[in-house]
Amino acid sequence: MKLSQVGERKLTYYVTKKFSIPFDDCAFLDAGEEYLLITTDMVNRKTHFPEGSTFYHMGWYAMAVNISDIAAKGGKPIAYVAAIGMPENLEKENYEEMLEGMEKCTEEYGGKLVGGDTKEADDVTIAITAFGKVRKDEAMPRKGAKPEDAVYVTGSIGRGGAALLEKNLEELLLIKPKIEEGRMLAKSKVVTSCMDLSDGLASSLYQLAKINNVGFIIYEDMLPVAEIAKKHENWLELALYYGGDYELLFTVPEEKGKELEKKMDIKRIGKVIEENKITLIKEGKEHKIEDRGYEHFRM
Ligand SMILES: [Mg+2]
Repeated sequence: MKLSQVGERKLTYYVTKKFSIPFDDCAFLDAGEEYLLITTDMVNRKTHFPEGSTFYHMGWYAMAVNISDIAAKGGKPIAYVAAIGMPENLEKENYEEMLEGMEKCTEEYGGKLVGGDTKEADDVTIAITAFGKVRKDEAMPRKGAKPEDAVYVTGSIGRGGAALLEKNLEELLLIKPKIEEGRMLAKSKVVTSCMDLSDGLASSLYQLAKINNVGFIIYEDMLPVAEIAKKHENWLELALYYGGDYELLFTVPEEKGKELEKKMDIKRIGKVIEENKITLIKEGKEHKIEDRGYEHFRM
């Protein structure tokens, strides 16, 4: 069977099962009163960057997607290593511009590049590993959502999808990981589960449902759809099924959620239910949210 028939999500399930890895945005390593958070994400010019993307965009994006996973656990970034593959005929200036993008991103969100590797490759590939830390009593794993918890997102959604359609590369690639929001949520100690929305809302809900053995009811009229997405006729499709929104999706007991709402830019979008189904309430009617989103190896 070819990988294109399997898809990225199933491929990661094979590896998490084989090595008994909890399915989360980061690994949590015991470090006394804290966890050392470790995550890695690889990007490739052909599969991640539309025509016209600059090397600055690529460097920033490669770094930011890793930082987003640290943010999703409530962590603070400490350090990064970067493995970079490039074709031999690439201009040196392009390489420097890529490093500039990476540097600017770390200046904004913290942590320092401390090592890496460069090799010859068919196309530009950047694999960054990020290290972060979080106090054990503040950490926000994906596991922990309970029936009756409220479901929230930070900021607005549909932004990544709209940016992709409009070929708005700044919006699509110069993403802003939610480190500050993640830290605030972590410090509140009331969040029961959290992940970032890189794969899109629908796919993320399915991942949380599987881990927590729960389901979700989401209300269409409560979704904080980004202005840039609302202009599109298929805004609901953009909000649910397109990836590239690096907001945080989290669950929290209802009353605690109301308190957080007073302090942060977060929106309640639904609730956790016991039944294993994921439903969208639109104009009073139930619709099934499908398990699809952006996935590599699938065309
Ligand atoms: Mg993630």
